[in-house]
Amino acid sequence: MRLPRFDYLGPDTLEGALAFLAIHRDDARILAGGTDLLVRMKKGLLSPKTLISLKALELAYIKKETIDGRDCLVIGAKTPISDIIASDLVQKHAPALATACKKIGAITLQHFAGTIGGNILQDNRCQHYNQSDFHRSGRQACHKDGGKICYAKDESDRCNSTCQSDGATALMALNAGIILAKKGGKRQVDLADFYTNDGIMPFACEPDELLTQIILPVQDGYSAYKRLAYRSAIDYPIVCAGVLLTLSKSSESKINGARIVVGAMGRSPLYMAAASTSLKGKNFDDTDAFQQAAKAAMDNAATFAVHNLGSTLEYRCSMAEEMVFQALNKAVAAHQSMEKLKTKA
Ligand SMILES: Cc1cc2nc3c(=O)[nH]c(=O)nc-3n(C[C@H](O)[C@H](O)[C@H](O)COP(=O)(O)OP(=O)(O)OC[C@H]3O[C@@H](n4cnc5c(N)ncnc54)[C@H](O)[C@@H]3O)c2cc1C
Ligand code: SF4
Repeated sequence: MRLPRFDYLGPDTLEGALAFLAIHRDDARILAGGTDLLVRMKKGLLSPKTLISLKALELAYIKKETIDGRDCLVIGAKTPISDIIASDLVQKHAPALATACKKIGAITLQHFAGTIGGNILQDNRCQHYNQSDFHRSGRQACHKDGGKICYAKDESDRCNSTCQSDGATALMALNAGIILAKKGGKRQVDLADFYTNDGIMPFACEPDELLTQIILPVQDGYSAYKRLAYRSAIDYPIVCAGVLLTLSKSSESKINGARIVVGAMGRSPLYMAAASTSLKGKNFDDTDAFQQAAKAAMDNAATFAVHNLGSTLEYRCSMAEEMVFQALNKAVAAHQSMEKLKTKA
């Protein structure tokens, strides 16, 4: 498989990149690590006329800042996955993200190319679509390929491709915001509001916008991430879950708030509002409440998932419940070890 021809632009500054994007818009794509983009181009799923490289831009950093009076982790969009895994700040304040990043692809991908921005903005996937040109040419085109049918869901009028981003699932659980810049301005959006209802273009992003930063509020609580894949390395998740449990100010044994997000089951990571709310005020050791929340999350995720990632839908749904339950227990275990440390001190 060969790459199609394209023009390569290598701006030195963010302003330069935004100016190029403003000119080329839909004809251009941003090139970060290229581990998603170049594979898609080789398969003939995409042939942008121009690639705008982030190579020379200073968008790789992880720092702690106070924003609007609140401590936040600020992560540049071009930060390599390996830097996030190694970061003390991320391990301390956002362990769910560190774990999710450890699971992305393989060590080579994490160390040499893959970035967190590219991880969030990687295209949705589907076993009927992520195939070679040759494979796809033997059958009618589906919605995402410019046709009018969906192989994953009968009579669907839209594409139901699946977001398999480990990073985005963990970041949504951590209540992340993202900064999108364009020529002459920028805006901040909650990651949870960044998705459309259509797998053809899953992101609510303009063609001239560039993701520059991810902002994570530092939470007084515990986060965790669990995922299932065919193999532990190289494979994308077939279901995953990120959770955050925050502490009550009056009693450290009670949950003040929870965020449960299920990934690889829908067109975006799925924030489970009802399951999350059900844990407010519960004790950290209330296993029954966790089991019920995990079941509610599975029931909700099942309404979005389609059969397009290989294993059966029934299996993925039952494992969604398991992943949520395990992630909640992992967050509780972190809370318990911290309590033990405090007692010893
Ligand atoms: C074998 C293999 C296994 C993989 N396994 C996993 C996995 O387990 N989990 C997982 O989550 N991912 C996986 N991936 C997908 C991908 O490699 C990673 O998500 C990686 O982090 C993508 O980052 P990148 O910098 O290479 O993105 P790129 O390929 O450079 O970009 C991806 C998309 O995002 C856009 N983009 C990138 N940065 C920006 C920006 N700052 N602003 C605007 N648009 C931008 C690009 O235009 C492109 O459309 C896998 C890929 C491969 C090839
Ligand atoms: S979900 Fe349907 S339309 Fe979307 S890529 Fe798969 S088969 Fe195509």
